[in-house]
Amino acid sequence: MIIDCHGHYTTAPKGLQDFRDAQIAGVNDPSQRPTGDPKVSDDEIRQSIEGAQMKLQRERGLDLTIFSPRASAMAHHIGDEAISRQWTRVCNDMIARVVALYPDNFIGVCQLPQSPGAPPANSVAELERCVTELGFVGCNLNPDPSGGHWDSPPLTDRAWYPIYEKMVELDVPAMVHVSSSCNPNFHATGAHYINADTTAFMQFITSDLFKDFPTLRMIIPHGGGAVPYHWGRYRGLAQDMKRPPLSELVMENVFFDTCVYHQAGIDLLLKVIPNKNILFGSEMVGAVRGVDPESGFNYDDTKRYIEAANITPAERKAIYEGNALTVFPRLKTRLQARGLLG
Ligand SMILES: [Zn+2]
Repeated sequence: MIIDCHGHYTTAPKGLQDFRDAQIAGVNDPSQRPTGDPKVSDDEIRQSIEGAQMKLQRERGLDLTIFSPRASAMAHHIGDEAISRQWTRVCNDMIARVVALYPDNFIGVCQLPQSPGAPPANSVAELERCVTELGFVGCNLNPDPSGGHWDSPPLTDRAWYPIYEKMVELDVPAMVHVSSSCNPNFHATGAHYINADTTAFMQFITSDLFKDFPTLRMIIPHGGGAVPYHWGRYRGLAQDMKRPPLSELVMENVFFDTCVYHQAGIDLLLKVIPNKNILFGSEMVGAVRGVDPESGFNYDDTKRYIEAANITPAERKAIYEGNALTVFPRLKTRLQARGLLG
């Protein structure tokens, strides 16, 4: 199987955005706040998926996408915690509807109702609802709900521990994933995302988080930000700080996806990062939508780079399937139950 661990519902029907627009209008004028569910039919969902994610899955030969709400639209910084909670719930419910319509092609990962200044513990109930009621297999955890101002404690602070306790209890991983940036210094997908990936890794190195939670699993997307390219820096920093080697310190718990949009970047990722820590991902349809004139193919057609990489068939299979099943045990159980795994 080829499992894409990183896909967002970037093509959701207009009714979802209408709901969000009403919510945003309601930030200052409560009378405009929407109630109930967004007006979106199953046919609209089918249309939005068939022409985009499903089409690309078929064209590229991918089997299943681990699917979450559009990351840039999480925008935890808009409105207060109640608005974030309502938006999170409708976005997660929308993912559940996609999975119900295409159970062999998608599995859900939830966004969390985070909000600047709100205790992370307040996100635990929605995580539990999504996993136990909607059948989701993981969550996206935003290390910076402020949208680019970084005024929350680091991911290693005990304030985050209630989420980790629930993740461990439910046996689900988190993808560390920021949302849109409201700081004009940081372009969302070009700077804020990559900064956050790099920042999260360095936070993990400086803490005993994975001593406290030996089975906690974190996926750092976008190829791990700057980390693989600067691997020597991180090894050296850990050494200078008298920390254990990275293999012991973080690499039983931290995983990188393959959302790196050129061959040389993927080659470096695969050379530097242990095979067991790499999950196939494309983030389609998403961050970069164009065609690379140098290759003639979409930048985010990441399977091509894995196919062309100098690795063994067993290593390739681990990246496509095995590692994802290890990191997402609930996905494995689900695929086995549906007879989709050998
Ligand atoms: Zn993403």
